[in-house]
Amino acid sequence: MNWMLLIFIGMSVICFHAYGGIASVLISWCIVFAQTGESNVFVLCIYSLVAAGVYVLTEYIRNVKIESDDWLSKLSLNSKQLNVFKEVSFSIQQTLNLQKLLHTILTSVTAGHGLGFNRAMILLVDEDGTKLKGIMGTGPMTVTEGYAVWDRITKSKYKLLDLIEGKETEKSVDLLLNEQVKGLEIPLDEPNFLYQALESGEPLHITRIDESDNTLWLFAHQFNMSELVVFPLISQGMKVGVLIIDNPVNKKPITPSDVDSVTHLANQASIAIQHIHLYGKIEDLAIKDGLTGLFNQRSLQTYLEQHLGEPQGTLSIILLDIDHFKHFNDTNGHLLGNQVLIQLADVIRNSIMEDHVAFRFGGEEFVILLPHTNKEIACFVAERIRSNVENAPFPCREGQPSGRLTISLGVASSEELGALTSLELVDVADQAMYKAKKTGRNKVVSS
Ligand code: GH3
Ligand code: MG
Ligand code: MG
Repeated sequence: MNWMLLIFIGMSVICFHAYGGIASVLISWCIVFAQTGESNVFVLCIYSLVAAGVYVLTEYIRNVKIESDDWLSKLSLNSKQLNVFKEVSFSIQQTLNLQKLLHTILTSVTAGHGLGFNRAMILLVDEDGTKLKGIMGTGPMTVTEGYAVWDRITKSKYKLLDLIEGKETEKSVDLLLNEQVKGLEIPLDEPNFLYQALESGEPLHITRIDESDNTLWLFAHQFNMSELVVFPLISQGMKVGVLIIDNPVNKKPITPSDVDSVTHLANQASIAIQHIHLYGKIEDLAIKDGLTGLFNQRSLQTYLEQHLGEPQGTLSIILLDIDHFKHFNDTNGHLLGNQVLIQLADVIRNSIMEDHVAFRFGGEEFVILLPHTNKEIACFVAERIRSNVENAPFPCREGQPSGRLTISLGVASSEELGALTSLELVDVADQAMYKAKKTGRNKVVSS
């Protein structure tokens, strides 16, 4: 009987903890009292000791289990993050294209296989460093939209790399969000929540929308935000932009460990974005003319080499040279001459169409390549450039021999010249331009 009671006490402690132990000890003692008719304090002490022993043992086992569960979940979170970083690093190293890089970062932050936030957006500091411009966002604008996207992704069984590589892009380019994000322009000199994050260099976790911060208030309203984290994107002390994340669909609170996991990704992203900026600047230096910003002669060479042999389709070329520019320099100085070159490049840019490419060929000579354009249209474009230059208010133009700053243009087209190479085409355009000079300047002559 005593063994049965001891087992009963043990089971009660295991199932009902401390209260179970106290109740079972009292019940057992009552049973013994009913059987023997004696109130035996020794038996009560033994039962209490057994209950206490079992209680301590079960608590110990439970704590060990909680601790090991805790470690297991931390370990699985870490391994998930590590996996995300591995895939993201791989994709980041593959690209020097800013749009692709930002898409990779945003997908990693929002995909279920990634860090799993509902929505993320990136704003970048503009070239002159005065404002943050919205560039790209991923995620829904509304809760219904959010569930619809998840449903589709789950059904399609996409993996993180599939999403990064854009297999879902057609359907999930979050048009509405992107449209709104791209409209964002926030000055960097006003003390708002974005400025605060960039100044401190630390993630800013906002759990309550402070209405005294106008920008935050507008943001929260426009994007229906109640809790968000702003990650400053800073690389080697340079402010690159901000990454903003939130959970508007499942409203899951953002934990410090969530913030921690994105911080590592944000740091990596900042370096990659800055590298792309620097690469862009170096590329610009190599292919563009420093004074006018047009493509340089080396780019023209590369472009023409790619089209050597047979020009692909009809290729037309306009070559132009400023009339009496030596006179302009001699009269007004070289510096003002440079201003004229800059202004002339602008007139050329504004006079040509999107698929036409303008180059500074040499000192005051320019070339415009017009792919897939016949001679008639090329002459029309050349005439428009000529007339726009003649009518543009260049400084000191009244001192020029004709009272205006003018140019002479030569046009050549592969259409009529047949199997000429692209380089020979430039020569033909040059001869036509020379003819324009010979026959009075300020005119267009075609080959
Ligand atoms: P033409 O009508 O026959 O073309 O007469 P022109 O005086 O323009 O003769 P040419 O085209 O031979 O003159 C080139 C002049 O362009 C010489 C030089 O003073 C000027 N020039 C060339 N490169 C630059 C430049 O980068 N800046 C400035 N300011 N002047 C330049
Ligand atoms: Mg010249
Ligand atoms: Mg000239």
